[in-house]
Amino acid sequence: MLTNSLGRSDRLNRVHPVSQWAGKSEAGPLIFDRAEGLWMTDIHGKTYLDAFAGLWCVNVGYGQKSVVAAAQAQMEKLPYATGYFDFASEAAIRMAEKVAELTPGDLNHVYFSLGGSDAVDSALRFIDYYWTARGQPERKHILSLEKGYHGSSSTGAGVTGLAPFHAGFSVPTAHQHHIPAPGAYRSEDPSDAAVIAASVQALKDRVHALGADRVAAFFAEPVQGSGGVIVQPHGWLKAMREACDELGILFVVDEVITGFGRTGKMFAQEHEGVQADIMTMAKGMTSGYAPMGACVLSDKVFEGIAATGGTVGHGYTYSGHPVSAAVGLEVIRLYQEGGILANAQARAPAFMAALKRLEAHPLVGEVRGLGLLAAVEIVADKRRKTPFAADSGISQKLFSALLENGLIARCFNDGTIGLAPALTISPDQIDLIAERIETSLNTLS
Ligand code: PLP
Repeated sequence: MLTNSLGRSDRLNRVHPVSQWAGKSEAGPLIFDRAEGLWMTDIHGKTYLDAFAGLWCVNVGYGQKSVVAAAQAQMEKLPYATGYFDFASEAAIRMAEKVAELTPGDLNHVYFSLGGSDAVDSALRFIDYYWTARGQPERKHILSLEKGYHGSSSTGAGVTGLAPFHAGFSVPTAHQHHIPAPGAYRSEDPSDAAVIAASVQALKDRVHALGADRVAAFFAEPVQGSGGVIVQPHGWLKAMREACDELGILFVVDEVITGFGRTGKMFAQEHEGVQADIMTMAKGMTSGYAPMGACVLSDKVFEGIAATGGTVGHGYTYSGHPVSAAVGLEVIRLYQEGGILANAQARAPAFMAALKRLEAHPLVGEVRGLGLLAAVEIVADKRRKTPFAADSGISQKLFSALLENGLIARCFNDGTIGLAPALTISPDQIDLIAERIETSLNTLS
């Protein structure tokens, strides 16, 4: 039977990202066949409401015909043109122009990658090059947050502050450091001012301990996605920007998840009127219809590197791929002219309200979010805010219950549910997400 043989082939030949390589069920993975809007159908015909936009990426929803048409037209006209040396395609130029127009301030210089990990990797390469060009090659230390996620490239995985991405590998390196992740839920003083002040102090203390003239950059996610959708208080990003300026280090904002309308603005930096020195993006950039990411440099960083006059020996064959660029341009048009960003903004209050009602459930400790990015944190002891142990099996149980009830969401190791539906979500679909989570929680309690 097709189903059985596909599952068996998967086990024989496919190595999955972020997965156990042994001990998987012989039945094979959940194999999707088709999708439309927010609905996915597996090869058995069962339908699921995708409350996670694939992997926080399909922001325009599945089945957008105009995106398919843009990809087809570009494939027919010019399926590939390198961006190496001084070659280009119109689509890549227009996409760079668009990204520069949308990003805050003087983030004007767009270096295309294939996704988020290599955007972060490119940022690390350019940071290194920049400080060397500025005559300060001893600036090697990179800081980021505990529970931050910045991809899993060989150096980027060290900037990531999540233990499962380090176990068994030789990262982080001696130059990579993590400071405590803010978040009000378990803070002794949960006020915005106290959470922000503690975070700024942690950054300053670590930079001074390392020697301010040996630190290169601090990486931040405006909302920590893969760490469990940890939402910082309003004002945190600005305070960290100011602290980096005071310390004389580069401020890198990783908007791989938060970019392209996910938090209700085109980019999350806009909520606080701040601008990074370097910004990374991917996912919603093409809405997952084709691979693309970018590392965007401010005038200061670009000019600092360009001033050397040398060849910057860093590149990917598919940097600025014309098909991905054509897809990106159409996706951005849909956000802006197709009303998708406006829909994300209009639906966010009802989305949060529906999820907030789940806080009455005995297993739910906290619901938090920004725009259409949210977490429902499940706790073992609600009064004491005790999380489930990572080895409690809660994540798998909850994930299975959600799937059983036809809902796709992310279940972090402690059971926290991550939600990031397509920005095209309807009021009915919002209610259905909350309903299906509640039903699934009831099977556990
Ligand atoms: N940075 C952040 C903030 C992310 O959330 C991710 C992926 O989830 C990445 C980087 C890595 O992106 P990719 O999986 O496209 O390599």
